[in-house]
Amino acid sequence: MSIIDVPIEDHESYRNELASIAIDGKRKWIYARQPKGKYTRSRAIVATILLAFLAISPFVKVHGHQFMLLNIMERQFVFFGLPFWPNDFYLVALVFITIVITLVVSTAIVGRIWCGWLCPQTIFLEFIFRRIEWWIDGTPVQQAQRHNGPWNADRIWRTGLKQSIFFLISFAIANIFLAYLISSDKLLLYITEGPAHHASVLIPLVAFTFVFYAVFARFREQACLIVCPYGRYMSSLVDDNTITVTYDTTRGEHRGKFTKADKDAWSAGQSRPEGKGDCVDCHQCVTVCPTGIDIRNGIQLECVACTACIDACDEVMVKVGRPKGLIRYTSATAVKQSIAKVFTTRIKAYVAVWVVLMSAVVVLFSMREMLDVLVLRQEGTTWVKTPEGVANFYRMQIINKSDDELPVEIVAVQPANAIITPIEKFDVVHGGHIAKGRFIITIPGADGTHGAMPITLSIRSKGKEVKSVTTSFIGGSL
Ligand code: SF4
Ligand code: SF4
Repeated sequence: MSIIDVPIEDHESYRNELASIAIDGKRKWIYARQPKGKYTRSRAIVATILLAFLAISPFVKVHGHQFMLLNIMERQFVFFGLPFWPNDFYLVALVFITIVITLVVSTAIVGRIWCGWLCPQTIFLEFIFRRIEWWIDGTPVQQAQRHNGPWNADRIWRTGLKQSIFFLISFAIANIFLAYLISSDKLLLYITEGPAHHASVLIPLVAFTFVFYAVFARFREQACLIVCPYGRYMSSLVDDNTITVTYDTTRGEHRGKFTKADKDAWSAGQSRPEGKGDCVDCHQCVTVCPTGIDIRNGIQLECVACTACIDACDEVMVKVGRPKGLIRYTSATAVKQSIAKVFTTRIKAYVAVWVVLMSAVVVLFSMREMLDVLVLRQEGTTWVKTPEGVANFYRMQIINKSDDELPVEIVAVQPANAIITPIEKFDVVHGGHIAKGRFIITIPGADGTHGAMPITLSIRSKGKEVKSVTTSFIGGSL
């Protein structure tokens, strides 16, 4: 009997339960087998590159800026060495929205490529923590035997070693995480001065360490299944046209154990007896699955598209002399109708939104000014009558987003006879700095009898205008 013959209410029953949670609500520990094959090798290369990037980028400097910085508390962001200031927040928000829409579009087209190939949770779990587990605890069968056996010397030293390494790696990840949040300079300074002097950093460091340890040592796939919001909304984005890790039911069913008769039939270039398909029901695709599911049931919420089942099944297909690809990257539509429909109306609409957002990001980045100037009348002051006319007090803030030192000069444009008198010396703004200063504007001939009037200032550097600012002047009469 194949999945096709089973009444829908029976073969869909897997949708009512998680493979990693028993009916009574207890955790069913997943002892995944180590996959081997071209997809695992490719993912290992991608994982190595991403891990190196993650670990190194907070310690790389570009023009004095940390290569990647996400200091949410102080609203300082640096992406690929390009600093963003608080007044660039709209750009940061737009970039994050564009990243989310990119994930939406990519999921609708190629499924959970993010989960399987790029997500830090998958990379850390599958390419670091689980590998250490296989190295220390052995095969899934040995792990299960030890896990369910007595606390003898063998189990104690292996568990002690494994958990100690897990904890140390979690501590290292927490440090890297902090380097992104508070900057690597501060982190190294705090390490040098000693954690006792910086309890405000030590506490989150310890908290992050325990969170990472709990996630990778215990919680594992449950983070993807229960906590991750992306895993939730992904199910509403994937449909029959999405190219994802898919079992070819047309070719595989009816499934059945591999027999001598099958071997003879396939060797003779004939079909398997009894109308059986290519699936030899060996469960190798299930034993490698990190979430414990059977991909032959179809697209499931628990599938993180890790490709382990593709490699496992390809290995089996080679052994039984059948073509690889019984499980492969394809869509349910392609399996049923032998034709892929990737660019559906829905995908075209998603791509159109994505193109608009990407264009907005590119345009706004190209228009981003390297100098931001804010001129405000000083709070709590009004106009003052002087022998020359009427004077107002101002505060000015200049953000120099470039890396170069910028000499600045303020010139009144309208009215042109306005006199600018600096209160504090204010002639240079260093690269990547905010300069603040105060000055007085006096307008000869003003008599204080009129209300507010606009006044235009030109901010110049090396004789060239870099910014024009309009503010208000109280008490003018021109
Ligand atoms: S079903 Fe296959 S691709 Fe999906 S999580 Fe399991 S092993 Fe990975
Ligand atoms: S590994 Fe391939 S042949 Fe074996 S049960 Fe899975 S789909 Fe069938």
